[in-house]
Formats: sequence, structure tokens, C-alpha cells
Amino acid sequence: MNYPSDMVLQPLLSAEQVARRVRELGEEITAAYSGRPITLMPILHGSLIFTADLVRCLPLEMVIEVCGLRSYAGATTRPSHLTWTMRPPGDLTGRDVLVVDDIVDSGATLRCVLDAVRAQKPASLRSCVLLAREPLELAPDFLGFRVGPGFVVGYGLDYDGRYRNLPDIAVLGQPGANAQ
Ligand code: 5GP
Ligand code: MG
Repeated sequence: MNYPSDMVLQPLLSAEQVARRVRELGEEITAAYSGRPITLMPILHGSLIFTADLVRCLPLEMVIEVCGLRSYAGATTRPSHLTWTMRPPGDLTGRDVLVVDDIVDSGATLRCVLDAVRAQKPASLRSCVLLAREPLELAPDFLGFRVGPGFVVGYGLDYDGRYRNLPDIAVLGQPGANAQ
């Protein structure tokens, strides 16, 4: 994609690799719930595109309930302070909830959502995450890929609001620097 950029994008995962893994995740999740209806809870905004593809690989009865968390920190540094932009709904008791996120780094974001949902006593609570930074701080129940230390963008993941629409996933670097 011809994207105006003052940064360097190093290819990491192609759209085809991601699509294949999303289909496999769909099969794993479908088998795990064996026909039970689920409540899918994507964390906005990063998991938007992943969720849009994932739900079409899940032939399960489902409702989608979004939530949003914002972290206040530098655009490519770890979140220092989490604030809800949209809280989970208050009627999750007894439901089979699957939280979906784009990437687990420190695990703080996913842990915060899982704690908020768990407090409502769902029937079951699991997580599905596309990417997780090594070493793994928090293991999702369903994981797409493990990634290294570089800051990744594309397929819903942004840098300061940009790059979400890239079909591939790339590592962002400064011009002249080694991104990994
Ligand atoms: P954690 O709370 O696990 O430290 O970080 C998770 C959140 O930080 C993600 O949902 C994402 O919004 C952001 N994040 C962490 N690492 C990256 C990255 O490499 N690229 C992008 N675009 N966001 C990241
Ligand atoms: Mg996120």
C-alpha cells in the first residue's frame, strides 16, 4: 500500500498469513464452545478488524458487546494509566464471554477487562488475542501469533491513530534504525 510515511514499515505478517490463522482460530473457538451461544467482547479500537474477520469464521449463535480502554502514555510506549472509554455492559452474569483484543503486551489492558467481566460472574470467561509479545505476560486462551519487541501496526493496530487500514502487519521503525 502506498502510505505516506515518515516512518519505516518492516513487513512482519502478510494479509494471507493473518487470514489463514484467523480461520484456524475460528475452528479452535467453534470446537471449544461446541454449539453454545457466546457473548463476544472486542476491546476497541485495535481489535475492530480482527473481530470483523473472526466473527465470520464462527458459526455460533452470538451477540457482540464492545468495550473500550484508553491508555495514556507515549504512542509507542507501554500504557501507564488505563481509562474506560466504554465500560462493558452490566448484564454479563451467566453468559459465556469471549474477550477479543489485538495485542497483549504487559497484559494490563486484557487483565483490566477480564477483571471487570469476572466481577459480574459470567458462566465462562475466555480471551482471544491476535498477537502477544514475548515473553508472554498473560496467556490468552486463544492466540494468533507471538511477536518480538518491535511496535507493530496494521490490521487494526495503530500508531497515533494511523495505519489501522494496512492489510498486512508490519513493524514500525524510525528511518535508518533497525525496527527489531
Ligand atoms: P498492554 O496493556 O498489554 O501492555 O498493551 C495492550 C495494548 O497496548 C494493546 O491493546 C494496544 O492498544 C497497545 N499496544 C501494545 N503493543 C502495541 C504494538 O506493538 N502496536 C500497537 N499498535 N499497539 C500496541
Ligand atoms: Mg488495544
